Amino acid sequence: MKQLEQIDLSNQRVLLRADLNAPLKVDSNGQMQITDDGRLKASVATIELLIKKNAKIIILAHLGRPKGERKPELSLKPIAKRLGELLNKPIAFAENLNDPELTTRIDSLNPGEILMLENIRYEKDETSKDQTERNRLAQKLAQLADFFVIDGFGVVHREQASVTDIARLLPSAPGKLVEAEQKAFDKVLKNPERPYVVVLGGSKVSDKLGVINNLINKVDLLLIGGGMAFTFLKAQSLEVGQSLLEIDRLDEVNKLMNLAKEKNVEIVLPVDVVISKELDGSSEVKTVEVANIPVDQKGLDIGPKTIELFKTKLNQAKTVVWNGPMGVFEVKQFSNGTKEIAQKISELSAYTVVGGGDSAAAIRLLGLDESKFDHISTGGGASLELLEGKELPGLKVLEEV
Ligand code: ADP
Ligand code: MG
Repeated sequence: MKQLEQIDLSNQRVLLRADLNAPLKVDSNGQMQITDDGRLKASVATIELLIKKNAKIIILAHLGRPKGERKPELSLKPIAKRLGELLNKPIAFAENLNDPELTTRIDSLNPGEILMLENIRYEKDETSKDQTERNRLAQKLAQLADFFVIDGFGVVHREQASVTDIARLLPSAPGKLVEAEQKAFDKVLKNPERPYVVVLGGSKVSDKLGVINNLINKVDLLLIGGGMAFTFLKAQSLEVGQSLLEIDRLDEVNKLMNLAKEKNVEIVLPVDVVISKELDGSSEVKTVEVANIPVDQKGLDIGPKTIELFKTKLNQAKTVVWNGPMGVFEVKQFSNGTKEIAQKISELSAYTVVGGGDSAAAIRLLGLDESKFDHISTGGGASLELLEGKELPGLKVLEEV
């Protein structure tokens, strides 16, 4: 794979595929406001490098899922404005890919100047399953540039025109964010320092079985909390009441528990849970041992004994991967487990990586110090696929060219 730092891009037209898919909400004046600009900030390093390299920069990105329609609420305009503020530099905007003036506008950019293209998912070919349709759009994009940089880690697991097809048409390299993500996941997947502890949580065990299957060959200890823990507890013949349960996954979970035993991997499950009848915190909240969950209650967070147990297990760790909240962290009454465990991980003298969209969001929402983790992934789906041991098409294509 080429290294962006080493490539001469002076006066070249560089098409940068970034992930600027920030959450937006409508304010009282009917304007779109960005509620979390984390992904924009994460894109700055590569853009600054391209400015330093005197490239003519064309930014290519998506917002939401307009599915080939020009939905005005999913325009990238407010994103261009905010990104310009972060860079302290104006960003020109091109509303239409088919504008005959577009090539002239790009050619007349001065080195280091930036133009952003409108939401690429306004084009229905972008996400088409049909390679010829995607290629049609990729050809159009390729004509605008001399070089392609992929820096949208949040989309590298997708086979899409602006991710994979374009990279087959132009000389290409990964950006600094993608490089940093790759480096962090390489470290925990290929070269982890031991003891290696993985903390898993979140809602669905079915989403995480692939991760466990892959990591069970590498880790020393697996701590399981969140909604997915209840399928594991049920597999131990415990009553889980109204808690999240994927009964059709019991067999797979049993197999995994046996496999873990064979491989000498310790799986640690909750010993107590915070329960309630309602998920929104509106009814009585209690803590019980896992053997005493009433039939009419849901487990919504790990309890204090489990927090202590998990913390003790984390103490010795030299590598930690965390994916999935320990409870319904969005509701104050059920956020304590996630907060305590995340805080503990951030304070360890270990190499710490956070994957998963909600886990990264939890760190920000709960007011934890992001800089105390070694790496917080910007790509939920992409990070999960890496942890599952899959190859990501947007990165694989760079090895081919
Ligand atoms: P990530 O995006 O980090 O991979 P997931 O998407 O797997 O995480 O899970 C996040 C969701 O899991 C959160 O919305 C959280 O409310 C939910 N969750 C965690 N624990 C529980 C639980 N005990 N019961 C129901 N939902 C839970
Ligand atoms: Mg999620």
